[in-house]
Amino acid sequence: MTLKLHDTLTRQKRAFVPDNPERVTMYVCGPTVYNYAHIGNFRPVVVFDLLFRVLRNLYGEGNVLYAANVTDVDDKINKKAADEGVAIREVSDRYLAAYNADAAALGALPPTFQPRVTEAMDAIIGMISDLIRHNGAYAAEGHVLFDTQAFPEYGKLSGRAMDEMIAGARVDVAPYKRHPADFVLWKPSKADEPSWESPWGPGRPGWHIECSAMIQDVLGLPIDIHGGGIDLVFPHHENELAQGVCAGHGREYAKIWLHNGFLNMADEKMSKSVGNVVLAHDLLKTWPGEVLRWALLSGHYRQPLEWTEALLDQAKSALDRLYRVLDDSGRFLAGRTAAGGDGGEIVRDALLDDLNTPQAFAGLFQLADRARQAVMAKDAPAATAARAALLDAGGLMGFLTADPQAWFQAGADDDLKGRVEALIAERAAARAAKNWPEADRIRDALAALNVEVMDGPSGATWRVRENA
Ligand code: AMP
Ligand code: ZN
Repeated sequence: MTLKLHDTLTRQKRAFVPDNPERVTMYVCGPTVYNYAHIGNFRPVVVFDLLFRVLRNLYGEGNVLYAANVTDVDDKINKKAADEGVAIREVSDRYLAAYNADAAALGALPPTFQPRVTEAMDAIIGMISDLIRHNGAYAAEGHVLFDTQAFPEYGKLSGRAMDEMIAGARVDVAPYKRHPADFVLWKPSKADEPSWESPWGPGRPGWHIECSAMIQDVLGLPIDIHGGGIDLVFPHHENELAQGVCAGHGREYAKIWLHNGFLNMADEKMSKSVGNVVLAHDLLKTWPGEVLRWALLSGHYRQPLEWTEALLDQAKSALDRLYRVLDDSGRFLAGRTAAGGDGGEIVRDALLDDLNTPQAFAGLFQLADRARQAVMAKDAPAATAARAALLDAGGLMGFLTADPQAWFQAGADDDLKGRVEALIAERAAARAAKNWPEADRIRDALAALNVEVMDGPSGATWRVRENA
């Protein structure tokens, strides 16, 4: 089965065929690092991490190059640094580290490249110069502007007519623009803003050119897949496409454009400006990263997803169900391991169909069911194969990476852990002394702590009971 992806540009699901299967390239627009990122910002992180994993599975780990950029030149970063009285770089470094830590906790693999605007200035200036040389851009009053009239297909990605795009531009059009839709590639910096030397005077780049230049710099053009949130289609990606094609002298820019839908709260896009945000950093204090990842993937990536407590509870109980099967089958098989059981393609095929995660989750439950039934039937070979398939398919999606015991004990604090271990030791002593009433009393005491004890050949293990 081949990978099919929905392409925003052609508005259809298309078979994905990379130019070079030994060098598959993907670029995703990343965050502006001036604060902790909200969980909505991590929807593209998790969605495109899943795609990265699927591509690595299809083409081989070393054959997929994934670049996710960081915007570290921005007024919001400057303001934060000024408010705190620290260097701009200190702010961007701090929140980039926090962002990467949160992404890792959500199970995202590190991208192959994480280019930063401040480190790509030569590439940005080079691309702007190239555009000017090929009549795709013009300098005026310390600014450089992209000449939208030089690209007749401008508006193609977002499906907007020129009138609409102009209406979307600011009401009072800057006098140095030849056409109201023209957008900034380079602008002068104000006195207190960071600035870089350029052929057009000291200044800094516009937002859109940064991504095009970083793509050209780290991956080379054209790329196979370009991704980001749906809010980036216009103007950001429309402008990237225009610049990229003009700088490449008519060559294709990206083969497939992929956009994730919004994460909403109370039916509105989660965003700092609305104020309806929950930080991943805070959620991770109470929820395992896999639960947040599951919640983010529980709807199809193109659809809006409503973020609620109930969504998190459902994600937790779904993963509890899978970990319970891993735990029970692991104990039944006691150390027997198998590499790659069969049946995992039910999950893989769902992902190949435009990352159909709801169907992939259903596939994981089917595999779990097979493993559970094999354990009930005491069929060790079938249980081994189904368990291995579940682990493989879960791993492909970035799930089931924890030890099942640790998963179920994660809800217990040190105090509870200490009490449970002490009670289990007392119970073992009572059983050794054949003091059955005492052993039963202790079992009840453990149950009252919401703890379930499982006896096995190598002693008793325990887990915190799932919520009903
Ligand atoms: P920003 O820092 O706002 O530029 O966003 C970084 C990335 O997160 C971009 O790909 C955005 O499209 C995406 N994003 C921001 N807010 C949301 C949201 N509520 N739901 C889904 N994606 C979002
Ligand atoms: Zn971008």
